[in-house]
Amino acid sequence: MGKIYECPHCGAILNPGEKIILTVAKAGKKAMVLLSPVLGDYSSEIPENFHPVISELIDFLCPVCHHDLTSSNDATFAEIRFREGPHSGKVAFSKKYGRQITLVLNQNNIVDVFGKDKEGIDVVNFSKPFQTDAEVQTRLHIGENGLS
Ligand SMILES: [Zn+2]
Repeated sequence: MGKIYECPHCGAILNPGEKIILTVAKAGKKAMVLLSPVLGDYSSEIPENFHPVISELIDFLCPVCHHDLTSSNDATFAEIRFREGPHSGKVAFSKKYGRQITLVLNQNNIVDVFGKDKEGIDVVNFSKPFQTDAEVQTRLHIGENGLS
């Protein structure tokens, strides 16, 4: 069974088909994008006229309630909810175009990290007050080895 992704604000299912559908916004421009539901897969379908540039901060919005999905823990991340069988949690991903980092959270604990840009990331903000730096480092290390 795959993950079901939901808007944390209105509960709308964001992957009614194969891909996750989100609204993106930057500098007054909005578009719909399709993202892979597979964690660590950063392939995306973006309309030709949206033109994001590398490292540009993109806002992600729920396509149903239009709520901004920016994480309350870190303004450079967007956050959505997921359910998978009996498991549920949150997935936070970088809002910077081209920056490949995705955090999987259970409540506010980081349980897994994906993406090539996870080195040196300040994930401590996501873990207050549940973890120490050492614990985060251990989890990053576990993520690197693909043991989740
Ligand atoms: Zn919503």
